[in-house]
Amino acid sequence: FVKFSDIQKTYDGETLVVKNLNLEIPRGEFLTMLGPSGSGKTTTLMMLAGFEVPTQGTILLEGRSIDNMPPHKRDIGMVFQNYALFPHMTVEENLVFPLKVRKLGKAEIEAKIKRVLDMVRLGAHGKRRPGQLSGGQQQRVALARALVFDPKLVLMDEPLGALDKQLREQMQLEIKHIHENLGVTVVYVTHDQGEALTMSDRIAVFNDGVVQQVAAPAELYERPQNAFVAQFVGENN
Ligand code: ATP
Repeated sequence: FVKFSDIQKTYDGETLVVKNLNLEIPRGEFLTMLGPSGSGKTTTLMMLAGFEVPTQGTILLEGRSIDNMPPHKRDIGMVFQNYALFPHMTVEENLVFPLKVRKLGKAEIEAKIKRVLDMVRLGAHGKRRPGQLSGGQQQRVALARALVFDPKLVLMDEPLGALDKQLREQMQLEIKHIHENLGVTVVYVTHDQGEALTMSDRIAVFNDGVVQQVAAPAELYERPQNAFVAQFVGENN
């Protein structure tokens, strides 16, 4: 479904921040990129989203190269740590935007918004502005906005980083639940081992621009491929 082949990325022409990345992500998978700060996770996600161009290599989405596919044509939903909601718009208005861009009719827009707000349990809050919502609710709006146009792929970069521990754990379960119900493919970035182990079908462990191992959580834990994986995955547990 997603295929990275021999991807290299440098920003300054010297240092490779992503080195020789080869990774295939099947449709419907929840794949987490886990690694310390600066290991190249966000850069990899940005190349998939189309906001950064690989220095070398190809990325295929459903068998097609995304080289010349503009970001809005890729049908990818995105959620980031700082929700980036429009503060002066209501929750519903925030969700209308991605649908208008796709030129949907009024009735269809209303139906999709209702469905997605119910899904994130915000059915009663559509007329509020983001400032009138809690952090967890705002993050749910961001999630709703990423899902409202039925994307093929959802990218999340530390989406729970700004939330306290209790809320984070609750949202982990909710995101997992939504993933299972929708069957959408998710690529998730975090430096939090516990989060990765709880949520993922598979985890790609990054260090210094190199994917050290790609495996299911239990396998990673029981059979780490090298000392870095053993040490990093074992932290915080
Ligand atoms: P973090 O969790 O801190 O975001 P990360 O694993 O996502 O870390 P990246 O953000 O991909 O890592 O960064 C990898 C390297 O690339 C870092 O050394 C970073 O300084 C560098 N880098 C990232 N973005 C840029 C940019 N736009 N221009 C120049 N260098 C960059």
